Amino acid sequence: MNDILNNDIKFLSGVGERRASMLRKELGIATLGDLLYHFPFRYIDRTRIWKIGEMDDDSLTYIQLKVRITGFQHVGSGPKRRFIATVSDGSGVAELVWFKGISWIEKRLEQGREYIVFGRPAFFNGVLNLVHPEIESAVEQANRFRSGVQGVYSTTEVLNRNQLGTKAIYTLMCNLWPMVDHRLRETLPADLIARLGLMSLHDALFNIHFPTSQQALRAAEFRLKFEELFGIQLNIMKERRGRTTRNDGFLFPVVGTFFNSFYKDCLPFPLTGAQKRVIREIRQDTVSGHQMNRLLQGDVGSGKTLVALMCMLLACDNGFQACMMVPTEILAAQHYATFTRMLAGLDIRVELLTGSTKKRERTQIDEGLRSGTIHILIGTHALIEDAVQFRNLGFVVIDEQHRFGVAQRARLWSKNEQPPHVLVMTATPIPRTLAMTLYGDLDVSVIDELPPGRKPVRTLHYRDAHRLRVFGFIREEIRKGRQVYIVYPLIKESEKMDYKDLEDGYEGIVRAFPPPEYVTVVVHGQMKSADKEYGMNLFKQGVAQIMVATSVIEVGVDVPNASVMVIESAERFGLSQLHQLRGRVGRGADQSYCILMSGDKLSSESRKRLGAMVSTNDGFELAEMDLQLRGPGDLSGTLQSGLAFDLKIADLGKDGQVLTLARNEAERVLQGDPMLAKPENRVLRELADKYVSKKEIDFSMIS
Ligand code: ADP
Ligand code: MG
Repeated sequence: MNDILNNDIKFLSGVGERRASMLRKELGIATLGDLLYHFPFRYIDRTRIWKIGEMDDDSLTYIQLKVRITGFQHVGSGPKRRFIATVSDGSGVAELVWFKGISWIEKRLEQGREYIVFGRPAFFNGVLNLVHPEIESAVEQANRFRSGVQGVYSTTEVLNRNQLGTKAIYTLMCNLWPMVDHRLRETLPADLIARLGLMSLHDALFNIHFPTSQQALRAAEFRLKFEELFGIQLNIMKERRGRTTRNDGFLFPVVGTFFNSFYKDCLPFPLTGAQKRVIREIRQDTVSGHQMNRLLQGDVGSGKTLVALMCMLLACDNGFQACMMVPTEILAAQHYATFTRMLAGLDIRVELLTGSTKKRERTQIDEGLRSGTIHILIGTHALIEDAVQFRNLGFVVIDEQHRFGVAQRARLWSKNEQPPHVLVMTATPIPRTLAMTLYGDLDVSVIDELPPGRKPVRTLHYRDAHRLRVFGFIREEIRKGRQVYIVYPLIKESEKMDYKDLEDGYEGIVRAFPPPEYVTVVVHGQMKSADKEYGMNLFKQGVAQIMVATSVIEVGVDVPNASVMVIESAERFGLSQLHQLRGRVGRGADQSYCILMSGDKLSSESRKRLGAMVSTNDGFELAEMDLQLRGPGDLSGTLQSGLAFDLKIADLGKDGQVLTLARNEAERVLQGDPMLAKPENRVLRELADKYVSKKEIDFSMIS
């Protein structure tokens, strides 16, 4: 280990106890090493000096000028009081403006002297303004060590207020470097570095903070990205090899009564080719002797549930129990209803277990699971509580995998001495590069075919101003016997604001669609589960024509007669979420519609997102776009919750090539030494161990 890096950050000059605790809380920086690996998220070019005369708009984020001060001025009073330095560089005149710290800055500046100023350009009455610019004398700048490109570090509101903004972090980095310089141990093997022509760790860390040239910066980034992705791949693939070389998979050799009579007597429709293929793939896994760990990807509505059900029957045919874990109570209840209905003719016991299962029922379920009289259990994360014990759990399905994390999967595994087969299902189409990293330890099956007779959903985008027209359309659809979802954003379940939106929206809807002619129900995550179920049922039975809901209905809900999905404030949803919501309609034979409502003013990114939704129904295409739109460091929401680690520098949306290289190299190493046990691979083992999943799961997002 690089011991120096483990030292507490408080010992760094310029930090101390108070700042150390802030850095720890806000950015998770506790040690010198943490700081050293806090990389800039972008760079600004400080080699370029702009001329005032050549500036004619304020489209640039930052500019640097070399100017002389020609005069000072105090303007205004009270909160509008400001201090202005007029400057010139021969090509034109500009103003530097300060609202705060006036007396301090006034003392520092000298008329007639040459300064380098750096800041965000803006025009007021045709005059170029820089508000609160960075400023230093040309002499000072020339004397100070600095490269042409300067890093910009992420920071937080709190840190900013406490003089720990991006510039202060840069200063800390300057203090840190001499302490660690030449005490950094290389973390990649020398032959690998030589073969791939990588920059050394020392040079890469130096250049990532203090680039000596653009080229060196690129090389530093490449080296660090490679190391990160390589470490992750090593870890994932090592695990996977461990799994597939052990002969501990339960065997399901029998295709028995449950499966066969279901297939013959209960199936309401023929399976699609893709469904058949996936069932065959899973069947092969379950007779291989190795534990199955498979990801099933299929767009919303592609019929994953049925595949899962049939595989669970296969487990039961072979004397095993099966369970299915889903992210919401609504979805659990729905699957339970579907399963009991479809399995009505079979002698099979299915139970439902969620956080709101009553104590008495719970006791009976526990008993049934232990004695083995329960064949199939459906539930929420209540399933992974330690108290739940199966007699012989052989097959586990995790629906809507993106809502859970890796650690949860692992907990289900540990329910047996011998791990059950695991099938994780997701409708969030994950681009290949990402799937490799997120789910590198899984085999992948894809349902790439929708059941026949589905009409593609038509997607329309309306601004709030056209609400009446949308209401008219809804009325028209309801008259034809259709049902309608109206969904409100809910970023965090606790945000009161969001509920206010939902309540106001509901009132508006009831006013526009008054009872008794129309029946409208509300469903959201904070309702009691009985109330939720009551609302859901009214809608399912067709008693209610309109359901007003939060995004709790995003996953899995299946009401084929609902043909209109209205998404309010659609600009507040991510692409994958919008696509999920759209998937709630288009399940019957009728033409379905998805209506995206948004405010009038949209950011260019929101406009792209909504435009993408209108232009395509293809989930995979949308996922690629989503990744590109969201860019580095912002893989938020659903996908990130599946990541077992935080990426410090690699960007899964953009670094596909580095990832492929990392994967190939990992493969090569593991071929010679599957468990990284050889002494010469000690460095690699340490690297892989750094990426063992530590992340616990945030249940708060699950209603
Ligand atoms: P998802 O993959 O999104 O979980 P579901 O499993 O909920 O999709 O299936 C969507 C709908 O399609 C359900 O109403 C289901 O009954 C129906 N379905 C599934 N398979 C077929 C099939 N082979 N033919 C016709 N309808 C099907
Ligand atoms: Mg589903």
